[in-house]
Amino acid sequence: MEDRGIDLEDRLADLETANLKRSLSPVDRIAERGHFAPPAAGDLPVLDSTDALVFASNNYLGLTDDERVQDATRQAAATVGTGAGASRLVTGDTLVHHDLERLLAETKATERALTFSSGYAANVGTITALEPDVIFSDEYNHASIIDGCRLSGAESIVYDHCDAGDLRSKLEARAADDEHADESWLIVTDSVFSMDGTVAPLAELCDVAEEFGAWVMVDEAHATGLYANGGGVVQAEGLEDRVHVQLGTLSKALASQGGYVAGSSELVECLINDARSFVFSTGLTPPAAAAASEALHVSRHSDVRERLWENVAHLRDGLETMGFEVPGDSQILPVVIGDRRDALALADGLRSRDIVAPAIRPPTVPEGTSRIRVVPIASHDQQDIVTCLEAFRAAGQDVGLL
Ligand code: PMP
Repeated sequence: MEDRGIDLEDRLADLETANLKRSLSPVDRIAERGHFAPPAAGDLPVLDSTDALVFASNNYLGLTDDERVQDATRQAAATVGTGAGASRLVTGDTLVHHDLERLLAETKATERALTFSSGYAANVGTITALEPDVIFSDEYNHASIIDGCRLSGAESIVYDHCDAGDLRSKLEARAADDEHADESWLIVTDSVFSMDGTVAPLAELCDVAEEFGAWVMVDEAHATGLYANGGGVVQAEGLEDRVHVQLGTLSKALASQGGYVAGSSELVECLINDARSFVFSTGLTPPAAAAASEALHVSRHSDVRERLWENVAHLRDGLETMGFEVPGDSQILPVVIGDRRDALALADGLRSRDIVAPAIRPPTVPEGTSRIRVVPIASHDQQDIVTCLEAFRAAGQDVGLL
């Protein structure tokens, strides 16, 4: 009989050979995040973890273990329940969701906001629901944007990373042909790019969009909670009235899980009806919604953002002084190494010094630009930053990079 099965063994072996195989951490290398003994574990031995400083998470404000956020989560679980129990349009709608959506809309200065079960679901659901004819997309946009573009069936035109000039020439070329006169156009970009730390030139992108009457959608996954008033780059640059769709995740600075879209009432009504990842997916869990609300509140009304930006400046300065190349202009510090083996060796050297900052390799980043994505968070103290810098110096010397 012929073998019509799927050959996973070969696929995994190829990845291994190319130094591109990813794995979850062995349990004895998972950094300590507090002791959790699940009551349902029965006879299974309780897993133990190690002490290490994590310098690679998206928990930018360090709020996943903030007492206020944890209290809000516990309270929502105890009063409203652990799960929504159904999609929002059936019986999964709760006041906790509406509270969060009001706070998001206020922070983003939009009429309304809507939450999704993840940022991924928000991107895929929104882009498909908008049904644009053509999408102009930054070449480094997140995979969930790319998947949304593909699923929407729209024609996608990719412009050079953060290049408003290239975007303009692509719009011009398209507009030159009368055949395209009736098309709807959507320009979509991340605001802060997660692997490069670059910040999109949003005002310039809006200028170009307005010249051609196109819509602009901005994914603020890595900016929400970090910029002006706890908003994103759109708020920092006062572009609320020029960006049609503001989107993001609750899973990074907001210390929770889920995604959101903020914009006009019409936009939200459209998504409630047509975004399949909203309509056909269970509502966000009430504890997740409550955690995000509280985290957003903390971001807006404490010094937590200042502490993050101080740590970013200290770490960037230390890495650059040592001689590492650290491009970008945000809280994400990509230490670009180049060769994937060197990047893996550096990450291993850091890990053996109790610093967790894994190597990022192709296909996540282009060939020849493997890197360590270093991210300080607001709850790191000065000594943590110094410890991280010392580990970089020692591991960098071991690998021959310094
Ligand atoms: N957009 C961007 C730019 C992201 O980086 C991510 C997550 N890495 C997402 C969307 C997806 O968000 P979530 O993790 O909530 O699905």
